[in-house]
Amino acid sequence: MADPEYSRMMELLLSRYPLYEWATFLRFGWRETPDGLLLTLAALDEPLPGEIDDSVGHVAIGEPYTLRIALGAEQHRLAVGIIHSHPEECAPEPSIVDDDMDGYYSDYFIGFAVDRPYVSLIVSRLGDEIVFSGRVFWKGAWHVVSKFLVERTRVRTYRQRSTQLPIGERVKRLAAAFGSDAANDLRHAVVGVVGAGGTGSAVIEVLARAGVGHLILIDPDHIEESNLERLHGGFREDVAARKWKVDVAERHVHQIDSQIRVTTCRGSLPQPEIVDLLVTANLVLGCTDQQHSRLALGELAYRYLVPVMDCGVALEGSNGKITGHTIQLANFFAAGPCALCRRMIDPRRVGQELMSDEERASRRRAAEEAEQRGDMADNYWMGMPQLNTVGYMTTTAGSMLAGYAIGYLTHRFGPAYTQLQLNLFSEPVNMVDWVDHPQADCVCRQVRGWADQAKAEAVITPPAHWPAPAISSRVPGEAGVT
Ligand SMILES: [Zn+2]
Ligand SMILES: [Zn+2]
Repeated sequence: MADPEYSRMMELLLSRYPLYEWATFLRFGWRETPDGLLLTLAALDEPLPGEIDDSVGHVAIGEPYTLRIALGAEQHRLAVGIIHSHPEECAPEPSIVDDDMDGYYSDYFIGFAVDRPYVSLIVSRLGDEIVFSGRVFWKGAWHVVSKFLVERTRVRTYRQRSTQLPIGERVKRLAAAFGSDAANDLRHAVVGVVGAGGTGSAVIEVLARAGVGHLILIDPDHIEESNLERLHGGFREDVAARKWKVDVAERHVHQIDSQIRVTTCRGSLPQPEIVDLLVTANLVLGCTDQQHSRLALGELAYRYLVPVMDCGVALEGSNGKITGHTIQLANFFAAGPCALCRRMIDPRRVGQELMSDEERASRRRAAEEAEQRGDMADNYWMGMPQLNTVGYMTTTAGSMLAGYAIGYLTHRFGPAYTQLQLNLFSEPVNMVDWVDHPQADCVCRQVRGWADQAKAEAVITPPAHWPAPAISSRVPGEAGVT
């Protein structure tokens, strides 16, 4: 769940607090993954005055409200859901009345929302915690919601006590500053890192040392000699052995902490296997210089409500004349501008990145021939300057991003920017936060939280010539599973 839907939903549900309950119907997107069914809050179908009886303390939904939602479901493709609050300090445990309601609704809505899940959630405030429980009727069976995640907000899943893990000597100073529950939050966090090159390897190193419990590492490439200028954990023998960058990163993580669970994937977004992995993450960090990757990360944020923090570096200049030294950090949160809104994407460049090697070569040949004829070579191949990166910049950018990630995961501080550009060597050091807003007509405004139900509106799909991803997951203390 994410804002603005989440905040509005909580405002409604706690509107008669602390004594009385309230409810609203909801719409959800969904995705079936090997780990289970993902549900994403897409919209609220709030009650109109009189549709819920406000003269009683419990929730009494009138027939007209139910009928309006059922008829409405025939006009959209999302799943039907309902959420109600329990009074403060009353556990979000379904009552006998709730059981009756869910039995009735799961049967009733199937007639209007065919082949869609029916979702029923309960929320209450217990002490200073917001606690959710939920169940989903899907394909003829009930399933209990095993994990709730809300963008930028700490919530607890009912009956899942966060086990307090012992704080290791290594992270004692971090725990002293952030509090011991912060160290525990990091141990329970799942973080995806897209790109295990210069910047990604710096991010991974800082997160592993800080004790993040589960890292999902995505990168399609081998390590090359030129990577050694900036790749944390990469060595000459890895180049000789043509090791994959994700395998080098995994080894580095386990050299630091053998208890960290590492899932590696050789591949690229938006391959479906990678989407399946990343939708389980509390936070995804974008560390590639590829525009198609940034486009896909933005889409992951608005369709699947996965919070994404992206970074990039650019060293501009050649032959000894350095003209720019830029680090850029940008957030993709569900309600914020996507990569398209931010004009970070050049569609022609994305097209070139997605071409096969053969197509790229033939376009280049066509461009050369055009140039000889005196035609516009750019119509065939757009020459783009190679952006240089150097180790001190990728390490600075990656460390900054990892720091903001730790602040996010522990709820201690949010990223203090929307799109930060930092020019390291201007005098004085120049930092600009580009506060930009979503474009009203952008697709990200239309399908927020629609998950797979926005397949038709996808802004990028993986090209057929990409090899299938190879995934490996290692749980501490177990042999690898591929
Ligand atoms: Zn109830
Ligand atoms: Zn957008």
